[in-house]
Amino acid sequence: MSSSADALVSALRAVLPAQRVITDPLRRLAYGTDASFYRLVPQVVVVAESEADVLATLAVCREQRAPLTFRAAGTSLSGQAISDSVLLVLGDGWRGATLGPGAVTVRLQPGVIGGHANRLLAPHGRKIGPDPASIDAAKVGGIAANNASGMCCGTRENSYHTLAGMRLVLADGALLDTEDAASIEAFRQSHAELLLGLAMLARRVREDAPLAERIRHKYRMKNTTGYGLNALVDFADPIEILTHLMIGSEGTLGFIAAVTYRTVPDHAHKATALVLFEALRTACEAVTRLKTTPVAAVELMDRAALASVQEQPGVPPEVRALGDDAAALLVEVRGEDEAQLAHRLHAARAALDGSATATPIAFTDDPERCAALWKVRKGTFPSVGSRRATGTTVIIEDVAFPVERLADATLDLQKLLHAHGYTEAIIFGHALEGNLHFVFTQDFGHEAEVARYARFMDEVAQLVVGRYDGALKAEHGTGRNMAPFVALEWGAEGVALMREIKRLFDPEGLLNPGVILNDDGQTHLKNLKPLPAAHELVDKCIECGFCEPTCPSAGLTFTPRQRITSWRELARRERAGEDTAPLRPTYAYDALDTCAGCGLCATACPVGIETGKLVKAQRGESFGALAHRIGRAVASNYGAVSAGVRAGLAGADLLHAAIGTRAMGAMTGGLRELSGNRIPPWTPHTPRAARFAVTPATNRSDPVVYFPSCATRSMGPARGDPIADSVPTVTDRVLRRAGYAPIYPANMGALCCGQPFESKGLAATAGEKAAELEAALRVASDGGRLPIVFDTSPCAYRMKRHLEGRLHVLDISEALQKLVLPRLQLRPLAETVAVHPVCSVRKQGLDGVLHAVAAACATEVIEPERVGCCGWAGDKGWTTPELNAHALRELRASLPAGCESGYSSSRTCEIGLAQHSGIPYRSIVHLVDAASGGAAGRG
Ligand SMILES: Cc1cc2nc3c(=O)[nH]c(=O)nc-3n(C[C@H](O)[C@H](O)[C@H](O)COP(=O)(O)OP(=O)(O)OC[C@H]3O[C@@H](n4cnc5c(N)ncnc54)[C@H](O)[C@@H]3O)c2cc1C
Ligand code: SF4
Ligand code: SF4
Repeated sequence: MSSSADALVSALRAVLPAQRVITDPLRRLAYGTDASFYRLVPQVVVVAESEADVLATLAVCREQRAPLTFRAAGTSLSGQAISDSVLLVLGDGWRGATLGPGAVTVRLQPGVIGGHANRLLAPHGRKIGPDPASIDAAKVGGIAANNASGMCCGTRENSYHTLAGMRLVLADGALLDTEDAASIEAFRQSHAELLLGLAMLARRVREDAPLAERIRHKYRMKNTTGYGLNALVDFADPIEILTHLMIGSEGTLGFIAAVTYRTVPDHAHKATALVLFEALRTACEAVTRLKTTPVAAVELMDRAALASVQEQPGVPPEVRALGDDAAALLVEVRGEDEAQLAHRLHAARAALDGSATATPIAFTDDPERCAALWKVRKGTFPSVGSRRATGTTVIIEDVAFPVERLADATLDLQKLLHAHGYTEAIIFGHALEGNLHFVFTQDFGHEAEVARYARFMDEVAQLVVGRYDGALKAEHGTGRNMAPFVALEWGAEGVALMREIKRLFDPEGLLNPGVILNDDGQTHLKNLKPLPAAHELVDKCIECGFCEPTCPSAGLTFTPRQRITSWRELARRERAGEDTAPLRPTYAYDALDTCAGCGLCATACPVGIETGKLVKAQRGESFGALAHRIGRAVASNYGAVSAGVRAGLAGADLLHAAIGTRAMGAMTGGLRELSGNRIPPWTPHTPRAARFAVTPATNRSDPVVYFPSCATRSMGPARGDPIADSVPTVTDRVLRRAGYAPIYPANMGALCCGQPFESKGLAATAGEKAAELEAALRVASDGGRLPIVFDTSPCAYRMKRHLEGRLHVLDISEALQKLVLPRLQLRPLAETVAVHPVCSVRKQGLDGVLHAVAAACATEVIEPERVGCCGWAGDKGWTTPELNAHALRELRASLPAGCESGYSSSRTCEIGLAQHSGIPYRSIVHLVDAASGGAAGRG
């Protein structure tokens, strides 16, 4: 590190906690990555938890003359969220959300994920206006600073037009809160010069009628090229001009500390149609006619876009039969009630009347069918990403044309792509706004390829601006990617205004320099990100960051994207003969040890990557032959090992009973320390040994196979839990109460689905255990005739995947809902209970089933919104307890007063849930037992 970098880091460490000033090379690289195809590695990463942290960082950066870049979710595509200086990322402290009266407004801190804001608003029938496709990952700071938009928000419901207030920090450390009269007054005094400067700019524009009209014209389309100059024509009050310039400023004018949005209605009544056309021109002409009707969204897909998804399930078969020049429009109509929907549908049909469609127009209001049609549209981009050659980048461009010229412009764009050899390219987009995305793959590994991209982009710019006077960036922001073309789009006058704006806000050029305004005409071709082949499991990763919110280690160590980025760097260095040793220790802990292997990342990944699989594979590769032999020995003596676990738990419980909780905690804590953390931590929630004896079925009329997992066979409730019976005892009782005769597989004590071995990376041993269990279950289920109930969801999920439908496995929640509840008289407990769907429940799509079973058994059920994977991961709660603590850090505060028990379906996960909530967590079967009158075992 250079001496200036050393001084910078020392100055930051003097004002911020050391662990939040990150300097090691691998974490700087991983944290520094965003979704764009540019790579800059920050000198230092600061995790800011509060406004005070932001102010302190700004002060150091001013003093050290070190540029500062803000980061929200890092899903930006144009290179605006990266830095080679100081990168400030948002910690947990920025997730505040406050609803205004009637949810007509909402005040959001910049770390709130857009999708979370919408879930908060949904019960009120409202949502935020901006709707980027990345809304389940992108955060409000980035949504506002990019002026992001999507399929429905158009030019009227973006952040600019729905802004009701803002709290912000300028480069000089000044704070302005436009919802606080005293703050406005103080700011008017302290920043009179800045406000006067903005007022003068606005006057200059208003007095220049052609310039004012040109600005208005540019914003009739979606436009995020350069600063939002419309603020200068739309507002006279300099405070309003200032806050509206912050929208779309990409972190170059100040820090957004809170945004208040006017919310928009989220109409419940919707109908969707996929309208097919034999000619792209006809489809575009239909868009122009639809523009004047009250449709909510019109998405265009060209033939290549349709071809990229036509083999996927749910795509109408007629798509495959379309000709080479075909296209489709996905049209959605919404209304606040049935009558309004019908009225709007009539208008949409009338606009399409007479268009030469390839098939009859058919709107559907069936939610599942609508979702399937949208899936077709949303699948186009990932399908290009997942088909690209390893080492190439997938580029998504984002332009807008005046909608009345959409047909000519789209055809010209298609021709241009082909002329430059981008024959795999697809075109789709929010046609109603003239906003087209085109997606193509690009190799940046060769100079000739970079030159091809450069030529192509020059011609795109000429086409969009020169021929159609469109926008070079409609919604993704200018970043570094379009900075060289801002002058082409806005002319000298426009750029002069923008430079003046930057000078007024940030005279020292401290904030995100090089973004939006950049003197280097080649900046879009520099600092290109390498995407070297690294591992076949993750080579298709496009580094979009959609997986990050699902990951329990996000914020503690790495996210899935950061794991992949790091591994790519290690692979690159190895191939280049560079030393990887300095990066390995960080990789071992941040990437490998703290991955829970939960697989939730795959549920959010557009190209279906499960990063946990990479981790497991690497764990397996890192084991020597001895570890594999030990794994095999454990597997083949599983009965004895399980008995050993039971004996250990029974011993610990006896000691706990004898010496009490405090002494036990102190003693085991000391032993753990002495062992260098190799002895698992003991907590009062550590289970007692399970007690369970198989008794012959009394009723043979309704046989069902029941397989208690090795976890429930070993681990009973904790000592402090008033419930004494273990899961198998209760499940057996509940099944019998419902009139079933439980049948147990032979030699059950030695059986296991293989999950513990799989998560350690011992795939072969895991497979052998699963095969052994399959054989036993086949016999017990009479060759697959009988259903098989699993009481532990991770095991049910694993066996379902292993069996691929060969036997009929039911997760415990499914079994309770389908088999048991219909036969029981329930008396719901007058209690509020919490439920926690473990990852395997989410991946099986059974969260709703777990919730419904609980709701049948208790008067109120809550499921904390921000608690995902618990991070226990079979045994990580013992080996890496900080992961469990981090993943559940919000649990306790999320439970309402009076909620005294929680329910789930994985005994090990329940240990950590109990520890970090302060209430017992048990299997859902315990709740059914209690509500069905047989609370035997309740102490
Ligand atoms: C697959 C994919 C699809 C996408 N689809 C869309 C789409 O449909 N529409 C669309 O508009 N975009 C889309 N995007 C781009 C991107 O997701 C959005 O622009 C998103 O709003 C960026 O939010 P973020 O939280 O990731 O911000 P970041 O990328 O972290 O930051 C964005 C910008 O905001 C600045 N910033 C961040 N926080 C602050 C703050 N508190 N104060 C001031 N400045 C700040 C950063 O410096 C940066 O310049 C897509 C991206 C991907 C990968
Ligand atoms: S793993 Fe998937 S979701 Fe995560 S960054 Fe890569 S492509 Fe995006
Ligand atoms: S498997 Fe789970 S812990 Fe591992 S990267 Fe994926 S989401 Fe994160």
